[in-house]
Amino acid sequence: MRSLYFAREGTMELWDVDVPSPGAGQVRIRTAFASLCATDVHQVTMGVLGAKPPMALGHETSGTVDALGPGTESSGLHVGDKVTAFPVSVCGQCLHCKRGQPQYCENAAPFGGFSEYYVTSANNVFALPDDADLKSFTITEPTVCAIRAMDLAPIQHGQTVAISGIGGIGAILLNAILLSGAAKVTVIEPVAAKRALALELGAAYAIDPATEDVVARADAITAGLGFDVVFEASGSPRAAKPALDIVGRCGRVVYFAVYPPDFELPVNLYDLYSKEAAILTVFTNPDLFPRAINLLPRLALDRIIGPVVPLSRAMEGIELFHSGEYPKIVLDCTA
Ligand SMILES: [Zn+2]
Ligand SMILES: [Zn+2]
Repeated sequence: MRSLYFAREGTMELWDVDVPSPGAGQVRIRTAFASLCATDVHQVTMGVLGAKPPMALGHETSGTVDALGPGTESSGLHVGDKVTAFPVSVCGQCLHCKRGQPQYCENAAPFGGFSEYYVTSANNVFALPDDADLKSFTITEPTVCAIRAMDLAPIQHGQTVAISGIGGIGAILLNAILLSGAAKVTVIEPVAAKRALALELGAAYAIDPATEDVVARADAITAGLGFDVVFEASGSPRAAKPALDIVGRCGRVVYFAVYPPDFELPVNLYDLYSKEAAILTVFTNPDLFPRAINLLPRLALDRIIGPVVPLSRAMEGIELFHSGEYPKIVLDCTA
């Protein structure tokens, strides 16, 4: 079968590998769609999340159950069920798993979602509605992260909110913000097409950080108060500091991206003290999959999900991803 690999330092390659067999407690998924994420690229270029070659890539998937391994009878899963999956198998035995925080599992083992098939623990697999459009549900995992960010923020009705970076994950988060009762929703985004998309989705203001003074615009929009909540979803070190400059008193800055591992954010603690502002960060969380599956039909999926590229032409999909034109690019893993 075809599988997209982190082959060598800085290099992705489409490999031909054996179809995996499900072991005890595992199921095999026939991947329908898998979406490209900046994290996939950062794993190959920066080795984030402990990525080392050779390693199968891809963590945002939808598909159908293809085979059940021994000991999965009580999982409630059946061959042919439409499903999505938490992107790593967790051990259930380390201290984090025992504390009910499997997202921090010390023995987390990723599967490669950019593959025709993958196997993973039945515990990580979540059933989708029978009528689910599998292309849409490929963004369940990033929606999980957006829900986690919203839970951490949290936004009260009428609070002012800014979000910088309308990439794939930023567009999903923006959609969740717009559903939340947030006010004066402002996007900060250098790509004109993405600013236009954000305004179409319902954002009130769009700032181009390349040509405009972000702090002056933020002051004008919020009458000098700063935003109640600022999300930084670009992952760009250049965008990280302005997020702190535009947050208001008792505000929250939520860093919602994977930054380069060696990047250190300059924080003026006197400014932060004067504002009583808080800095928060977001990781993924398997417990939120059922909520993400519920929320997904409320998202503007036709605007968030861009071109579909066959897995056999994955490299073209990656080029499109780098063009920065579309929020989410999806690989059709059956073609
Ligand atoms: Zn992702
Ligand atoms: Zn564990």
